[in-house]
Amino acid sequence: MISQLAIHKLVQILGEEHILTKTVDLSPFSHDATNQDFVPDAVAFPQDADQISKILQLANEELFPVIPRGAGSGMSGGAVAVRGGLVLSMERLNKILLIDEENLLAKVEPGVVTAHLQEEVEKCGLFYPPDPASLDVSTIGGNVAECAGGPRAVKYGVTRDYVMGLKVVLPTGDSITTGVETAKGVVGYDLTRLIVGSEGTLAVIVEIILKLLPKPEMKRTMLIRFSDIAASARCVSKIIREKVVPTTIEFLDSLSVECVRDQVPFELPLDDSTLLLIEVDGDSDQIDHNTRLIEALCRKIGSVEFRLAKDKEEAEELWKARKNLSPSLQRLRPHKINQDVVVPRSRLPDFVIALSGIGRRYALPIPSFGHAGDGNIHVNIMYDADDKNETERAHQALQEILRLTLDLRGTLSGEHGVGISKKPYIGMEITPTALELMRKIKKAFDPNGILNPAKIFDEA
Ligand SMILES: Cc1cc2nc3c(=O)[nH]c(=O)nc-3n(C[C@H](O)[C@H](O)[C@H](O)COP(=O)(O)OP(=O)(O)OC[C@H]3O[C@@H](n4cnc5c(N)ncnc54)[C@H](O)[C@@H]3O)c2cc1C
Repeated sequence: MISQLAIHKLVQILGEEHILTKTVDLSPFSHDATNQDFVPDAVAFPQDADQISKILQLANEELFPVIPRGAGSGMSGGAVAVRGGLVLSMERLNKILLIDEENLLAKVEPGVVTAHLQEEVEKCGLFYPPDPASLDVSTIGGNVAECAGGPRAVKYGVTRDYVMGLKVVLPTGDSITTGVETAKGVVGYDLTRLIVGSEGTLAVIVEIILKLLPKPEMKRTMLIRFSDIAASARCVSKIIREKVVPTTIEFLDSLSVECVRDQVPFELPLDDSTLLLIEVDGDSDQIDHNTRLIEALCRKIGSVEFRLAKDKEEAEELWKARKNLSPSLQRLRPHKINQDVVVPRSRLPDFVIALSGIGRRYALPIPSFGHAGDGNIHVNIMYDADDKNETERAHQALQEILRLTLDLRGTLSGEHGVGISKKPYIGMEITPTALELMRKIKKAFDPNGILNPAKIFDEA
């Protein structure tokens, strides 16, 4: 709970028009994409690092939680105020400060929307690859804090691979810079890597230096249909093994196909087909070569249809259907437990076969789709929370899926983070000694535990 005196001091720091305290205004800031509701005491809209520093100093004096927030599209409850306190919106820190064509980098504020940055750098013939499906709304700050990935991670890696340096305000209110503006740099511990993916628990990111690449000349999208889920998973492993590196290899199982069938720009048969959505990029020779190789591999493994998107519009419609998948799943059941587990790519066939078995055993629809090219599958356990028995089965199925993932030498989250959603399960993957070290790191950054408390793991 923030005291009235502290609210008064916040108004002095921010100005009255940049702080919300009325219940009705707080509601949009009380949840993220997980739809778990925790109403904060107030929401602040700082304009710069200096104001953020003053807010954090005050939070240390008055001991109230501060929760950094981008667009609130997070999938693990990272931006919600589980213990009340102040939500710190990055909405006004939304400037692209520099696009440096000589050094292939951009400097941005955290509130810049991902798609906007991509459009702006592409105008200069440059390319910022990380492309979470939420990129039309998500912010770069949120992407960095979660280490977001996306379909293009198969070839280009994830957000972490593009963050060269950061300017952050520590929970104590002190500001530091991490990393470099140069192509290389090894001075001191790599605090940039520590903060990337720390889910807003170690520092508030106020400026980001991002590596850019030259924009690929062209790209081509293909849709491949399989009548057998195991064959489509085998095909993914085979493509990687043949050392073809497509830009993306997205997988949709038959339940997922059902949910977006009407959004695909051509007719799909009414059967149990699974789909691979593959994109290749480069110059025209590379694209032709890779397309031929992929087509031959798919046919050999048993695809029943191979289709090239006939033009840019058709490719865009296919990608739109893929991006709409997550919200479209509600056609199956009103509630879902969403997991973004990752298994080694060679174990993908074992994973999808076992997953179908779990769905059958618990009599639940468990659509799976996602970035199969890097082994990252979004598993959605669909259920009706009004049905007690079904809810219990959903949670039992979850335990089994997480255990399966770890047994296959996988990891519990590829990109959505732990937040509050996966906090109960972190001990399944991280050893007590490693967890203890993480707690000590948190304490060193945030001695009073004011920054985004109760996320990832519980305090000692
Ligand atoms: C339909 C849909 C599709 C999605 N697809 C993908 C996908 O393909 N890949 C993927 O990786 N994710 C995906 N996501 C999840 C989500 O969009 C990403 O995690 C994204 O990075 C969150 O960005 P945001 O701006 O919404 O952050 P928020 O949800 O606001 O915050 C996320 C976390 O970042 C912290 N944070 C935000 N800004 C800062 C800052 N400036 N300093 C410190 N901490 C900060 C918050 O405290 C919180 O812990 C998807 C979500 C949806 C709804």
